[in-house]
Amino acid sequence: MPSGLKTRYHILQNFNVRGQRTNDCIFAWTIVVQTNGPTNRSQPTVAVVGAGISGLSYARTLADHGLPVTVFEKSRGVGGRMATRRSDNGAAFDHGAQYFTVRDERFQNCVDSWQHAGLVQRWTGRIVSLHDQNKDQDKSSTARFVACPGMNAICRHLAENLDVRTNTRVAPPTRCQGKWLVSDETGSELGRYDVVIVSAPAPQAGELLQGSHDLASRASSVRIAGCWALLVQFPARIDLDGDGAFVRDSALSWIARNSSKPGRNPDVETWILHASADWTQCRLEESSEAIQERLLDAFWDATGMAAVPPQFCRRPPLARCVTHGTAA
Ligand SMILES: Cc1cc2nc3c(=O)[nH]c(=O)nc-3n(C[C@H](O)[C@H](O)[C@H](O)COP(=O)(O)OP(=O)(O)OC[C@H]3O[C@@H](n4cnc5c(N)ncnc54)[C@H](O)[C@@H]3O)c2cc1C
Repeated sequence: MPSGLKTRYHILQNFNVRGQRTNDCIFAWTIVVQTNGPTNRSQPTVAVVGAGISGLSYARTLADHGLPVTVFEKSRGVGGRMATRRSDNGAAFDHGAQYFTVRDERFQNCVDSWQHAGLVQRWTGRIVSLHDQNKDQDKSSTARFVACPGMNAICRHLAENLDVRTNTRVAPPTRCQGKWLVSDETGSELGRYDVVIVSAPAPQAGELLQGSHDLASRASSVRIAGCWALLVQFPARIDLDGDGAFVRDSALSWIARNSSKPGRNPDVETWILHASADWTQCRLEESSEAIQERLLDAFWDATGMAAVPPQFCRRPPLARCVTHGTAA
């Protein structure tokens, strides 16, 4: 693909793992930066910044077509906002992306192959809507899919046999002798590449592209919203008639019984609580303890159930969702 690009820069937004522009499934934001070096070489070298689903989808596709690709990821593992976290006692939680849907035939083919490989299963948990302690059943017939045993399994699958360098935070690439010079934050050189693919969340992409060209301002113009998440394990089953709920008029926007998803341990009662964007925005500076307490209170309030002390409760770092893009 890179050698076939006619324009110097190419920008894609909101594409799914098959590269379609769609609102159907997991959104991704990726910027491809190409040097104006020779385009007729058979194998341009490619650096991908970010090992979330978008960066890994690019890397997988290019590597499968024989291009030498290196992926750099600042975290210690792959997955990005499809991360799966574990408690000290080994319980797993889908921290960010909860499930995905399929409305495009091409993506359906991809999901079919993942299902066939046992990587993805349909989540048939009962989804409800909670408001003022009332409950409505979700009447949509949309199939919801999850990766097994955790959402990051898709990213680990895509990363198989790729050259992925974790714990490596990339600094803004610079031009050097017709290539992109990629270094880490300490200034150590990581390599020189014909093509750099930046798949970091838009504001971080803006920083990585600083001083390069107008892509920096386009990326920086995308607004994103934070989402406080709480990972909770209860000592016994919570007797709510539902496995996932969209919550209205609450600090919470979404709650899910993580252990109800296929491939998870059904004997360990784990829940994910997501705060709403507005609620999070007003509490970005609050302590972990305060956020935990408030979200747990909101959980009991929304479900109308008597509070039970959790066995494990943790607020991971703030996750961010793209809420509005202004880039062309
Ligand atoms: C709370 C929450 C809930 C969500 N729920 C759903 C859902 O139910 N269904 C759904 O379809 N989608 C959901 N989403 C959206 C979905 O998770 C994301 O759209 C998707 O995972 C984004 O993938 P990505 O690869 O574009 O970005 P990311 O997953 O953010 O990957 C970017 C990667 O780049 C790395 N990186 C950044 N800067 C650097 C650097 N300088 N050097 C090296 N590495 C760097 C980051 O560490 C990260 O791993 C949710 C998102 C959030 C936050």
